[in-house]
Amino acid sequence: MANQYIKEGYMTKKSINKRTIFSPDNFKARWFTLDNVALRYYDGSLEKGKTNEKGKVEISSIKVVEEVEDGKLEGKLNTFQIGFHDSSEQHTLYITAQTDDMRKDWVQAIRDVCQSQGVEFDLKYHSGVFQRNLKRFNCCDQINKNSPGCQPTFNQPENARKQNGLAGSSTLSVRDTPLPPIPPNTPARDPRNSKTFVIALYDYQGAADGDLSITKGEEYEVIDNSKEHWWTAKNKKGEKGYIPANYVEVVTSTGLESYDWYHKNITRHRAEEMLKAEGKEGCFIVRDSSTKGMYTVSIYTKESGTMVLHYHIKQFNDGMFYISEKFKFPTIPDVIKYHKCNSGGLVVRLRSPPTGTSQPSTAGFGHDIWEIDPTELELFEELGRGQFGSVKRGKWRKNKSVAVKMMQQGMMNEDDFIDEAKTMKMLQHENLVQLYGVCSKQRPIYIVIEYMKHGSLLNYLKRQRGVILKKPNKLLDMCLQVCRAMKYLESQSFIHRDLAARNCLVGDNLVVKVGDFGLARYVLDDEYTSSSGTKFPIKWAPPEVLGYTRFSSKSDVWAFGVLMWEIFTGGDMPYGKIKNQEVVEQVVHHGKRLEKPQACPGEVYDIMMVCWEKDERNRPGFAVLENKLANLSDDDYCS
Ligand code: ADP
Repeated sequence: MANQYIKEGYMTKKSINKRTIFSPDNFKARWFTLDNVALRYYDGSLEKGKTNEKGKVEISSIKVVEEVEDGKLEGKLNTFQIGFHDSSEQHTLYITAQTDDMRKDWVQAIRDVCQSQGVEFDLKYHSGVFQRNLKRFNCCDQINKNSPGCQPTFNQPENARKQNGLAGSSTLSVRDTPLPPIPPNTPARDPRNSKTFVIALYDYQGAADGDLSITKGEEYEVIDNSKEHWWTAKNKKGEKGYIPANYVEVVTSTGLESYDWYHKNITRHRAEEMLKAEGKEGCFIVRDSSTKGMYTVSIYTKESGTMVLHYHIKQFNDGMFYISEKFKFPTIPDVIKYHKCNSGGLVVRLRSPPTGTSQPSTAGFGHDIWEIDPTELELFEELGRGQFGSVKRGKWRKNKSVAVKMMQQGMMNEDDFIDEAKTMKMLQHENLVQLYGVCSKQRPIYIVIEYMKHGSLLNYLKRQRGVILKKPNKLLDMCLQVCRAMKYLESQSFIHRDLAARNCLVGDNLVVKVGDFGLARYVLDDEYTSSSGTKFPIKWAPPEVLGYTRFSSKSDVWAFGVLMWEIFTGGDMPYGKIKNQEVVEQVVHHGKRLEKPQACPGEVYDIMMVCWEKDERNRPGFAVLENKLANLSDDDYCS
């Protein structure tokens, strides 16, 4: 079939570089011609007409022909876009016509050719562009450059629009088979070969050979997720390597993972701390609600006494989502988009998510870094002194903040510790102080751990006592955080042996993390290890430890009860000045227990009391305790 010439004209074209921002230096004036095989562009000028062919887009590869929303393109009016597939890659060609009429003519002409060739268009497209500096689309805020479109394309039939969660009136129809319903929260898989895709929540700069650097918002294919903390993944260029599993989220069919306002696993209190730390009017996040399958919007505002308000996103029977019944939408992103422009019943309109969220720790600096080269460590001021010696603030490879414990010689069984610490490095939880590695080839050996800005929980409680005791919700949240870390250790059959406020640390946004887990086993000092020793943590120990040195997760539960008591007294010494031997006598033989702190609600004290059941079998595990604590701190919502 001979090429049928249809249309030609002089327009400006942006170099094809997958939906990136417009910038003046990558725009070129070109001659365009349209025939029934391709849209071609040439060197040339208005005077001379076309000269050398510079490139083309095959009609059969076209998936989207749409105008670009004006006013969003840094002054470039009359722009339209052609989305097309080239081998497995998707590209977008942006073309600017001289007038709006010319743009409409071109769009119509290209659509007509496509339709005459039986081309099937995509159902959705992005009406804006991806802004590289802001790392998001300006039409929908999605942060993944390759995220599916947010607007229905011109020819999408009404039934597909509904199924797809899109609103609007019907238009021309090319494809009218309805789409299958979207299953809730299942991982997005390539239907041909069951691939799992993840989206990066944070940047990670590969630190060890074999690591893969990842960029926030980009999608990666998971090749192997059999290891708990370091998965093997492949990027768009086909490069493979290890990535930290806690830096990515599996992409589900809800697609919410690609929005930076979505924080899947975050509790109400964490959300509040994060939003308050940001302190900006209308700052918000969307999170999974404590009610399974539901979502909650948490918003910061000075308009209300409580500062952070929580709203459920509800769903009508027809599947439409809403916060305020009057304004319902087919998808959650649509609800958010609406409330970014209109308060629509909310206390304020939504603005933007917090920017100051810090990156979580990885299990080790890289998948294979354990022995740390001391020349890559810079050491600064002393943070404190513990029983093993000095703890200093440090930097690894000039950018990663760490704390370095310098283990005074003769204080611990170093060889046994170094052996065990490899396992401890693999313990990873958002409420455990991360162990990154050791410098074991020198003396004193260094233990390199996560840096926690506010130091030990005990000192923090004492410093903040006057303020914090008036905020039982904050205290409860601290307990809950510690409980989660302990539930994790329990699930790994790992016993802490020295859980107490002095061994927990406080970081940004009131994050509390449990530290020094398992270290007690390697201490050489008898005064610390023997239950009759002067340094033994008797006031945190249950009867079976005091009597028979029988440690278990249930002895950690007892200590957790005492830690809760420390939290609710603002860092008091348990049993005051009473001597250790007297405490043993009273607790073991006379069933005496710590009294209810003044700031402690009765229900919270009930939880402490079950931790102090004499018979360890009657003490609940940490999973049960977590439930109890979470129930007390349950969400209350605005309607
Ligand atoms: P040790 O294990 O030798 O007894 P500690 O863990 O008690 O030492 O630390 C002593 C002090 O150093 C703590 O009270 C705290 O103030 C500070 N510190 C310890 N670890 C960190 C850390 N990761 N980040 C910030 N400060 C820390």
